[in-house]
Amino acid sequence: ITVKEAVQAQLDRIKEADGAYNCYVTIMEQEALQRAEEVQKKIDAGEFADSPLAGVPAAIKDNICTKGVLTTCSSKMLGNFKPPYSAEAVEKLEAAGVVIIGKLNMDEFAMGGSTETSFYGPTRNPWNVNTVPGGSSGGSAAAVAAEEAFFALGSDTGGSIRQPASFCGITGIKPTYGMVSRYGLIAFASSLDQIGPMGRDVSDCAAVLEVIAGHDAKDSTSMDAGDYKFTEALVDDVKGMKIGIPDSYLGEGIDEEVKQSILAAAEVLREKGALVEEFHMDMTKYAIPAYYIIASAEASSNLSRYDGIKYGYRTPDFEGLQDVYKKTRSEGFGAEVKRRMMIGAFVLSSGYYDAYYKKALQVKALIKESFDRAFEKYDVILGPTAPTTALEIGANADDPLKRYLGDIYTVSANLAGLPAVSLPCGFDSRKLPIGLQLTGKLFGEKDIIRAAYSFE
Ligand code: GLN
Repeated sequence: ITVKEAVQAQLDRIKEADGAYNCYVTIMEQEALQRAEEVQKKIDAGEFADSPLAGVPAAIKDNICTKGVLTTCSSKMLGNFKPPYSAEAVEKLEAAGVVIIGKLNMDEFAMGGSTETSFYGPTRNPWNVNTVPGGSSGGSAAAVAAEEAFFALGSDTGGSIRQPASFCGITGIKPTYGMVSRYGLIAFASSLDQIGPMGRDVSDCAAVLEVIAGHDAKDSTSMDAGDYKFTEALVDDVKGMKIGIPDSYLGEGIDEEVKQSILAAAEVLREKGALVEEFHMDMTKYAIPAYYIIASAEASSNLSRYDGIKYGYRTPDFEGLQDVYKKTRSEGFGAEVKRRMMIGAFVLSSGYYDAYYKKALQVKALIKESFDRAFEKYDVILGPTAPTTALEIGANADDPLKRYLGDIYTVSANLAGLPAVSLPCGFDSRKLPIGLQLTGKLFGEKDIIRAAYSFE
């Protein structure tokens, strides 16, 4: 099969299925077909001999810049934004011969966990179209689940790769903070954001991560990990591996079917020779408030650049500068984004800074210490990705606090900068997928990939 045939087949599948799921904001039909021919020529000329991704069609979350191609963040504010450059992760995929076929739907500016806050309408979960795909990388997860993409890139600030992977029955990795360059990722909360792979299984994700990871001078928080051979960890061997389950992860608030499925997965690892035990972990109950304060504070600062002057949406009629700002931002942003910016501006304001933002940073440091202590004993921490399976579309629409609590198991990895993978581990009685989360120490990607491979 030629690259063009593969790309055409993928485009046909998108045309057939996307009306039902709404995974794509932009389909790059012409670009992809043209690029398929270029890649084919290079393959025929012997290039890409050691690149397993050469000729593979893939898609990108719509907050990751693609040169000359709309990158909207699923917001009206960036509805006309064509970046003049591509993200480093995109450049790296292209250098490996990947054919990018489109841009994927998401919660507006990656704020949310259901893909319902997109200006372009919600994405639907391919397992049950009355339920959400999770979010914010819901378009990415649903596209992989519905075979509308071989793999996708997502971004994860507080769970946005892992939770939709869980809801859609696919695998997603949030890498160590600094592992993948954030250059060209439109910022939500810069100290937490990471780009990562979403694919059918951990083998696919490891292969993609191997390509996109690496130090990049264009991102000042990028790190040199030294070892990037993640596919070497795809071995079925967890003998002697030490795995801890935080007691609070199976306590209050978790759905019983999710809990049973997680315990069954723990048993699989135990049978394969891993040491698996519960342990007490401190600070977990403070992760949600700390995350929402820090993420919102950074968002209010990062999103101040959308003022209707430099680029993006501008209100059509206005009187003077203040009025441009006010109308542009009122019309250009959706309700959830406005809520976050208001929370952020509040917690950063003088008089409240010490009580909220500073406290949240202290909690963040304590959460990190709590993980450090756990990793003195364990190689990997195991738990659920989310307390439930996919919720109905519209659930908790008017209850933001309830929605935020759904991120209870994912946000601490971002606060501590740690790598974590979500992989499918079963179904509930509604036949919706359940996600297992494995968290590793800093730069411990290989540990979580090895443990995840036990289930493949
Ligand atoms: N659901 C979380 C939030 O709304 C996480 C989002 C993300 O990781 N981008 O902030």
